[in-house]
Order: sequence, then C-alpha cells, then structure tokens
Amino acid sequence: MTSSTRPLLNRRLAEFGTTIFAEMSALALRTGAINLGQGFPDTDGPEEIREAAVRALRDGRGNQYPPGPGIPELRAAVAAHQERRYGLSYDPDAEVLVTAGATEAIAATLLALLEPDDEVIAFEPYYDSYAACIAMAGGTRVPVTLRPYEGSFRLDLDELRAAVTDRTRLLLINTPHNPTGTVLTRAELTAIAELAVERDLLVVTDEVYEHLVFDDAEHLPLATFPGMRERTVTIGSAGKSFSFTGWKVGWVTSTQELVTAVRTAKQYLTYVSAGPFQYAVAEALRLPDAYFDSFRADLQRKRDLLGDGLRAAGFEVYQPQGTYFITTDITPFGDKDAYAFCRALPERCGVVAIPNSVFYDDPNAGRSQVRFAFCKKDDVLAEATSRLQRLAS
Ligand SMILES: *Cc1c(COP(=O)(O)O)cnc(C)c1O
Repeated sequence: MTSSTRPLLNRRLAEFGTTIFAEMSALALRTGAINLGQGFPDTDGPEEIREAAVRALRDGRGNQYPPGPGIPELRAAVAAHQERRYGLSYDPDAEVLVTAGATEAIAATLLALLEPDDEVIAFEPYYDSYAACIAMAGGTRVPVTLRPYEGSFRLDLDELRAAVTDRTRLLLINTPHNPTGTVLTRAELTAIAELAVERDLLVVTDEVYEHLVFDDAEHLPLATFPGMRERTVTIGSAGKSFSFTGWKVGWVTSTQELVTAVRTAKQYLTYVSAGPFQYAVAEALRLPDAYFDSFRADLQRKRDLLGDGLRAAGFEVYQPQGTYFITTDITPFGDKDAYAFCRALPERCGVVAIPNSVFYDDPNAGRSQVRFAFCKKDDVLAEATSRLQRLAS
C-alpha cells in the first residue's frame, strides 16, 4: 500500500495495458467463439520430439538448473541448424545462447544493448513485445510503417533510410513478419544491410517464422548479407518451428561479444529455463529436411483454406508469404474500426480475431485491419470460415 498519489505502474510501462491476446482469448472463452486470435497451433508438434522431452524428464536430464547459456547439446544443434540451412557458422560455446523463448531473447537483447534515449527502428505493425521491451530498456521506438501494396505489405526503403538519426542504435527486424506475413526480399535485405553498415547500426532480427514461408518466397537470414554477421543478433524459437509454443525454448546466435552482452542481461531475467525441453529441441533441430518441407506445405494449405473462406465472406485479404497469420481489411463491410469489429465478431458469428490497429503507433494506419490465425485444425478452420459467411449476407 502507498499513500502517495503516484501511479504504481512506472512511467516506462504506463502506456501498456493487458495484451490484446489475453483480452481476445478471454472473450473467446466467455463467448465460446472459435479463437483465431492468438497464434498457437491446436495440434502439438512431432510425437518423437514430445517423447524426447518425456525421456529427458524421466532420465533426470534437465530437471535441475541447466547451464546458463543452455545445454551443450542444444547449442550444438542450433549451430548445426544455422550451418545446414543457411551456411552460417557459429561457435556453439561462445556464439549461441538459449533463452526462455524468443520473447526473452528480445527482452535480454534490448536490455543489454540500449542506453536510455537510444532510438530503435522497428516495422509497424509490430509484434507487441517489441514496444514494451524497448520501453523497459528506456529506449525510444521509431516505427517504419509497412504499407499495403499490390495485395501485400511492403517496406518503403526511403522511409527506412529517413528514419535513421544520430541517435539510432539498432534496427529491430522481423521476417517473416507478424502480423502482415511479409517476407523481406533479397533486394530489401540487401538495402537494410547496406544501411546498417553505412550508419554503423546493430541489427536484431526476429526470425521465429524462418520455417514458415510459402509459395516461392525464401527466408534469407540477415546475418548472411555482407558486413552483417558481426553486427546482427539473430533470434529463433522452437515454439513456432516445431509447434511447441508452451515449451518456451528460444535462442540467439551472434558474435561472442554480442552474445556475451545479451547473456549478461538474460542471466538476471530467468537465468535458465525449460531444462528437459532443451534436450527435446536439440533433437528437433536435427530433424531431416522432410519434416520442415511437410510442415510448411501443411501450413500453406491451411493458409489457403482460411484465405479462400475470408475472401468468400467478403474480406479484403492480404496474401501472406509466411507466418501463421492473414491480415484482412474490413472496409468492404462498411466497417472502419477493427477494434470494435473484433469485439463484436463473437456475437455476430462466433469467431475471435485480432485488430491490427493495436500494433501501430499511428492508430489510423491500421484502423481497418483484422488478423486471423490459420495454425488450426482443418475442421476448426472450416467451421470458422463457414460461420464467417454470415457476414456476407
Ligand atoms: C510468437 C512470436 C515470438 C515469441 O516467441 P516465443 O518463443 O514463444 O517466446 C516472438 N516474435 C514473434 C514475431 C512471434 O510471433
């Protein structure tokens, strides 16, 4: 208890309320609506990986504090994965750090690298933890807006260049991008890399959807571009790559200096986490390419299932090239306010979605955008799209 009139929540966090995911998931629970809001799969990842976790737990591996940087088996598997998929070579003992999901990796990286008043450039709409973590680190976020262009969202490179100032410390990149599904192209990444080198910026790249790219899109890690390996912190996650979002196993790969800095912050956040799961994820990362290929084909099929249903219901659909999500525009319904639309959607047709407007600093920029997750069972997607057809009449 305090007798002062000072607010309890500090100034850095004052603008942050309950996350939209908690709010909309509670709404789904209350109304019994189908939850296409929060992005988690409703089917667990590979059975053999689940069993690997059970085995580790039974064998007493990881039930006590694992090593601070992560178990050696997982660090080696992360390094081998980056080498096998992208030709990126990292020393598992010095250049890999295991974290409590990508969420902690983001938090620890920003807490480690930012001085108060440093500016961080991030794409908007942004993943909601970016804004909060930049704020907790005392930094200032500078959004660069991805804008609709020919059916998807694109980055305006001139706008990005113009956003860099003498106070810019780092670029926080996310590709494939949540919520728009944009996958940055080789040309865009080349331009980002040139800008980072020219202005001597650090780059943090959130690549949790690295395995979820569709059609002929290709995921290209920023660290593979000239001059980038030494200035880039790359973040991955077993949650998204193996459909075990509850395990919260993520990782950072970077130079020894950057990993040491991130570890310094990370050790005072969770210190360590997810002991037995680390053993299972080490096995998952060594799954053959066939696993990743069929995972991606399956998600692409689900994207098309939901996308077709949304189009038929009357939404304007921005075709995602990656991630779990489809961003739509509700203007065709004569609606303009995504938040109000999403609050009413369970009543109108028994489906929950997320208003993208909350992922923008400029509330007008994403005002009429609504995000749906398609990482759900086929029958759930079929039922949801059938319910959404009520909007068409
Ligand atoms: C889900 C998600 C995360 C968080 O990953 P965890 O491993 O569950 O912490 C981070 N970034 C983006 C863009 C995400 O969509």
